[in-house]
Amino acid sequence: MTASPLAFDFSCHCPHVACGDMISAPQSRVCPVCGGDLIRCPSCRATNRLLSAHCRACGKHIASESWPAHAGIKNAEALFSAIQSIDPPRQLMRLGASATVQMVAADGVLVVPLGDSSISLVSESSRREITRLDLPEPVASTAAIRSGRLFAASGKNIFAFDLARHLDLASRAEIGPAWIFESERGPVIQPLLADAERVYLSARDGHRTMIEAVSQKSGARMWAAPVVLETLQAAPPLLVKNLLVIIAHSGDGLVVESESGRVLGKFSLGRRLSHVTPYVTGARALIVDADNNVYEIALSEKGLTVNLIYTHAARILTIAASEEFIAIGHLSGLTLLNSRGNAMWSNDMLESISVAPIIAANTILALDDAGTGLLFEAIRSNPSSRVKLLGGEILTPPVMTHSSLAAVNAAGELAIAEWR
Ligand SMILES: [Zn+2]
Ligand SMILES: [Zn+2]
Repeated sequence: MTASPLAFDFSCHCPHVACGDMISAPQSRVCPVCGGDLIRCPSCRATNRLLSAHCRACGKHIASESWPAHAGIKNAEALFSAIQSIDPPRQLMRLGASATVQMVAADGVLVVPLGDSSISLVSESSRREITRLDLPEPVASTAAIRSGRLFAASGKNIFAFDLARHLDLASRAEIGPAWIFESERGPVIQPLLADAERVYLSARDGHRTMIEAVSQKSGARMWAAPVVLETLQAAPPLLVKNLLVIIAHSGDGLVVESESGRVLGKFSLGRRLSHVTPYVTGARALIVDADNNVYEIALSEKGLTVNLIYTHAARILTIAASEEFIAIGHLSGLTLLNSRGNAMWSNDMLESISVAPIIAANTILALDDAGTGLLFEAIRSNPSSRVKLLGGEILTPPVMTHSSLAAVNAAGELAIAEWR
C-alpha cells in the first residue's frame, strides 16, 4: 500500500515560508537549504519555526517555552522525559561579556542576558548566535518568554520582543521592541513573571516594592493600582495558579488576585525567610526559612495553607521541585525528597550545588559549583553519570529544552550539551 499522494509530509519540509525545501534527515533541526532553525512537534514530528505556539501540521499546542530551572517562577509547562545520557558539550561559546542573570530558553533558542546591556540569542542546534538585542541598561533580573515573545527588564523599562516573528525573517539584523513599558517608579528588581495574558513586574519605589501587571499584547497597565509591599527585602513574587504570592523576608506576605491586582489576604509565616529562591510547581510553592526548614505553601478552595514538610541539618543553598520530587542543593551535595518532604536519599560527598537542579521525570540533573553536570536517578544517591559542562564561576541555573541542556558561567561562556 502506498501513502495518499495528497498527504503533505510536514516532517520533511522546511517550515520557513520563503524556503519550504525538502529536509531529508528526519532529526535535522537546521534547514540545509536556507540555514533556518527549526523545531519538531513532539506529537507528530512536523517541522515548525522557532517559538511556534501551535504545530502547523497537527495543530497541537507546542510547549516550547522550556524553563524547568526558572527558579521561583512557574514550573515549565513542557514535560520532559527522563534523561538517559548527556553528550559532552562540543565547545564553549564565548559571548564576550559577563553573564550573571539567569538565561531562559525555548526549544531551539537560548536567551542569555549579558553585562554589556545586550541579550544574546543563541541557536541551540547550530550553536551560533542568531542575533543580539541591545538595551539601554543591562538586564538585571530574569526575563520571561511566552507565546513567542520575550519580555526583558532594563532599568525602569520592560521591553517586549516578538521573537517568533523576527526569527523567521531573512534579515534578523533589526529586531525592534513590539512595545516598551516604563515603570513610574524605580528599576525592576525581581524576575519577571508571565502567565497567559500578563507580565508581572516588581519595581523599587524608595524603600518599598511596587508590583504591577502589564498586558503582553500592548504593554498597557492592567491593574487599577499597583500592589505595595512596605519593604525591598522580599522573595521574588510567585505565581501559583491565578494568584500572586508575595512574601517579604520578614515572613509577612500578601495573596493577590493576578487578574485584578486585588489583595485577597495577608498572612505571616512567623519566621524569617532565607535567601533561597522559592520554587513553584503545580498549585504549591516551596520556600525555605532562615533555619533551613522547607515549607509548602499550598493553594486550595479552602485558601492558603502553610505546612512545614522538611528540616535540613545544614544550610540549604537551592531548591527545585516537580510534582513528584523535591531536590535540595547544599554545601556538600544534593538531597532528594519525595513530594511530601520525606527524605529519599542524601549525597553529602559532592561539590556544593548552589543553583537549582533540573528534575526531568525520575532523573535529576544538578550542576555543581565546579561546572560538572551530575545526573542522578531518583532511586540512587550516586550519580549515574558526570559530564563536565564548563568551568569558572557558576551563578545561574542550567536550562533544559527538548534536546539540550545549557549552562553559562559568570564570564559569559556558554555550554550546550545534547541529552537523550
Ligand atoms: Zn529552509
Ligand atoms: Zn504536530
